Amino acid sequence: MNENADWIKDWKTQEKGRRKEYKKLVGQLKRKSAKILTELADDVHHNTFEKYDCLDCANCCTSIPPQLNRTDVNRISKHLGMKSSDFRDQYTRQDEDGDTVMNATPCPFLNKDHTCQIYENRPRACREYPHTHAAQFAQQLDLHLVNARHCPAVFHILERFGELLKEGI
Ligand code: SF4
Ligand code: SF4
Repeated sequence: MNENADWIKDWKTQEKGRRKEYKKLVGQLKRKSAKILTELADDVHHNTFEKYDCLDCANCCTSIPPQLNRTDVNRISKHLGMKSSDFRDQYTRQDEDGDTVMNATPCPFLNKDHTCQIYENRPRACREYPHTHAAQFAQQLDLHLVNARHCPAVFHILERFGELLKEGI
């Protein structure tokens, strides 16, 4: 793990100052066809996560409590050898929207080295975050603006889309 990874430093130093630019960028992306964005997002997402290692970061696991559906609760409690009711009591709470979420940040299953203790059984929300893969990219454009504040990968994915727009997509 490299705590000083440049991609995270760049995000930390630039993110706030580029919010207006990214808002405009998302407005431009909304005018593009979902099909084109989906094809491009497939490459941009994979290239980004090939280049950047989430183990350098873990900001989502540190700061955003993931949502858990009933299937997640059953799968994780089974994996931990707990009753699902005990798992709910020990690890979850209801948020302001009535959804079940982990009850602590950083996540109780986050290890010091940024690995996840329940990786194979992690909640669906953790598997899907940050929603930049393929069709999800075009479906969640406004969400990417919010997530760019928390996730350096989303920040860099939007940056790449800015370059693609300049190249004339
Ligand atoms: S998904 Fe984003 S916030 Fe989470 S660890 Fe990876 S880069 Fe960091
Ligand atoms: S369950 Fe694992 S992947 Fe999900 S927030 Fe917790 S540590 Fe991160």
